[in-house]
Amino acid sequence: MRVDSLTKRFGRGDTALTALDDVSFEVRRGEVVALLGLSGSGKSTLLRHLDGLQAPTSGGGTVLGTDLATAVPAELRALRRRIGFVFQQFHLVGRLTVLENVCTGALGSLRGPRLGLFSYPRAVREAALGRLERVGLADWAFQRADTLSGGQQQRVAVARALMQEPSILLADEPVASLDPESSGQIMRLLKEVAEQGRLTVLCSLHQVDLALSWADRIVGLRHGRVVLDIPARGIDRATVMRLYASVGADAA
Ligand code: ATP
Ligand code: MG
Repeated sequence: MRVDSLTKRFGRGDTALTALDDVSFEVRRGEVVALLGLSGSGKSTLLRHLDGLQAPTSGGGTVLGTDLATAVPAELRALRRRIGFVFQQFHLVGRLTVLENVCTGALGSLRGPRLGLFSYPRAVREAALGRLERVGLADWAFQRADTLSGGQQQRVAVARALMQEPSILLADEPVASLDPESSGQIMRLLKEVAEQGRLTVLCSLHQVDLALSWADRIVGLRHGRVVLDIPARGIDRATVMRLYASVGADAA
């Protein structure tokens, strides 16, 4: 995936806000990249562009061979089927079982609405159970989703995101609502699925420590600009903070 001079402005004229300002970086297949940045630095906006949910004002990039600047809606829909998305708030349907929540991850490639677990083809149900095993929650398959802890719910959300065997997993602050222990478990899970599935993971985070522990590389955003693009190995927290604070500070 390559992001190339991606610029996104919201509004026009005097009130225009530049959320992403000439953003460029590259992510190799199978790499886990942490996207660090303060609130409002443009992390969510960037992830939405990569999922084809928002169109750039100028520039763009290439995601799984799709040119973000020129893709038509059908191409963006096709792209989205190859990308899994995990959110801060899990977005499970609480009154449905865990297994059914995972099955909904296949909806993008099924026709028509589904009501109830047995409205899904058997192959989908089996695949969903396999994904639950993968995240260590097969024993919870028939519980209501809202009876699980936050960390467990996020693991279910990861299982759901894996249903369509995506090539890329985008995670927008997947651990922001979790305690430190659950946060570490989710980051470890993302790292494992990346390694086992040759899956590219781009994960926005606020915690430098988690980025250093689990990511291969750190891309830092500040006021919509890339101010950091460094390997996560052999570097410490203080250095990351110093670089983040210093690079481009005068432009802010
Ligand atoms: P947080 O850590 O709080 O989630 P973030 O890094 O994800 O922040 P974004 O949500 O991408 O930041 O927002 C970047 C900037 O773009 C912010 O100033 C935000 O107000 C603005 N913005 C985002 N979406 C829109 C929109 N649809 N319309 C107008 N402004 C927007
Ligand atoms: Mg955000």
